[in-house]
Amino acid sequence: MGVPAERLDRLHALARAAARDGDPERARYYVRLARRVGERNRVRLPRTFRRFTCDACDAYLLPGRNARVRLQSGHVVVTCDCGVQARYPYRD
Ligand SMILES: [Zn+2]
Repeated sequence: MGVPAERLDRLHALARAAARDGDPERARYYVRLARRVGERNRVRLPRTFRRFTCDACDAYLLPGRNARVRLQSGHVVVTCDCGVQARYPYRD
């Protein structure tokens, strides 16, 4: 794992911790930072990172806290508190 990937891992952990601590703005800050690191280094963000962040408002999503998760005809539908939905094919 290269340095950018390690940095992304760390930012992901920080974002999750901030969200769990009830500090969504700090979580957002880390989410945005991680996106920038990914872009600058052309590193694809880890799948778990992409699934638990909102593309529209950069929130770090905690199902049951600021996001709802539903299963719908073979898809996982994640709805952020801002109203934006993301859907992923349901596998594993
Ligand atoms: Zn959102």
